[in-house]
Amino acid sequence: MTLASQTILPEQGGDIVLSNGNRYERIERPSLEYTDEVARVTAPLYEKVRHHIPEIEWPVHAPYVYAINRLKKQRNAAILAHNYQTPEIYHCVADIAGDSLQLAMEATKVEADIIVQCGVHFMAETSKLLNPSKVVLIPDMRAGCSLADSITGEDVRLLREANPGVPIVTYVNTSADVKAESDICCTSSNAVAIVESFGVDKVLLIPDEYLAQNVAKQTDVKILTWKGHCEVHERFTAEELLAYKDIDPAIQIIAHPECPTEVTAVADFTGSTKGMIDFALGQKPGAKVLLVTECSMASNIQEQAPGVEFIKPCNLCPHMKRITLPKILDSLLDMKEEVVVDPLMAARARKAVERMVNLKN
Ligand code: SF4
Repeated sequence: MTLASQTILPEQGGDIVLSNGNRYERIERPSLEYTDEVARVTAPLYEKVRHHIPEIEWPVHAPYVYAINRLKKQRNAAILAHNYQTPEIYHCVADIAGDSLQLAMEATKVEADIIVQCGVHFMAETSKLLNPSKVVLIPDMRAGCSLADSITGEDVRLLREANPGVPIVTYVNTSADVKAESDICCTSSNAVAIVESFGVDKVLLIPDEYLAQNVAKQTDVKILTWKGHCEVHERFTAEELLAYKDIDPAIQIIAHPECPTEVTAVADFTGSTKGMIDFALGQKPGAKVLLVTECSMASNIQEQAPGVEFIKPCNLCPHMKRITLPKILDSLLDMKEEVVVDPLMAARARKAVERMVNLKN
């Protein structure tokens, strides 16, 4: 993880003071007993997760859900949860759920002063870039990403020197430092369009090697790339997916373009997180869908597609799973960990993101 952010948590007169000078009152730690009131208020939320959380476990989660939802109002905070968060976070405390860019963009519309990012560090940075006046907290500063950590801003400067005149397109799964050195950002859904928007014959698309290879299959533009990989998606193999097809040829295989090309070659559909969800939700009742991505996504979208049977090869992202209900509670109580991006770097990184957004529109 780059050091584009830091935690500042000085205390003055009992209040918590953040980097922008704002003061926040200390709030007493709530009781975490599973009372009748907690059971009653959280019962509708349990209905959303009952297929994933056994009834016997709910009294452990419910007091946190109850306390976090009350605390959010007290702090005027909004919780953003990535699709790879666990169901009790995604369905029970999140105000906005989606992929990383969706979250940051949606956060610009909320009235809350504070964003609690339930995702990994680069996502919290992106939220801060697009919402500079808001306080952005991440419940565990160690929630990194193998892809984002594969490259630094200095690496991008060296790439630019070695490839003069070649546009640099950076995947949004990168630090603010890397975005700041790039010409434009892209997501997995718009990467082909962004690459072709320059009208040149060669583009650097970094840092995901497999995304770059999957994009290269769809364009005549020559794609240069970097050796970064998502440690979740790179583990899937064509062999394991074909074994599912052998058992039931009707299974629809849906893969994320961060998977190796041998995997996307055997998929029935390849698309971004949102593209995968749209494809899965468009299936008829009774369909069997094998989601080749992080394990929690199938659990989180199951409620929207009750007639679809999701088959999960199940690779978990250990970084996403650092975020838990107890840490979210601590984050709201203690206003930690604050994500701070150097303003000059933020301005340059924001431009790269905004260029992408404007191109899309
Ligand atoms: S799933 Fe992959 S790209 Fe996403 S945070 Fe985890 S390691 Fe990074």
